[in-house]
Amino acid sequence: MSTSTNDLPKLRQLLRRKLSELDRMLEPAFDRQAVFPGRLSVSRHRCGRPNCRCNDGELHEAVRLAIQFKDGAANRCLDDDGVELWQPRTEAYRRLRDAERSFRKWQKDIVVLLDSIERARRSCDGLSPEDRKRPLR
Ligand SMILES: [Zn+2]
Repeated sequence: MSTSTNDLPKLRQLLRRKLSELDRMLEPAFDRQAVFPGRLSVSRHRCGRPNCRCNDGELHEAVRLAIQFKDGAANRCLDDDGVELWQPRTEAYRRLRDAERSFRKWQKDIVVLLDSIERARRSCDGLSPEDRKRPLR
């Protein structure tokens, strides 16, 4: 991509916009809520008992906690108290990880922008005709 000084206002505008996204993006890091690496999900199943309502398609619901251990995930069934205990922590964990993922993408976008700004501000004044033929980094 070839850039010129004409692109600078646009590039600076993009950079400012990216900068203004940062505060909001990192908000979850200022949250005081405890976190836990897990995820809640609702599973629906048939119990297998004859004459149960689940045979007519009204499935049983169970809330599961998938704990993310280093060596793999493990599921635990939760009752209502368990949901109340684990939900805030797993949701805060999710928000924090999402913030981190967004930040990594943000960081990549900034690097691309800085490269573009550098190219747009590049001046070859004073460079000999011979040196001008050689591509710069
Ligand atoms: Zn059943």
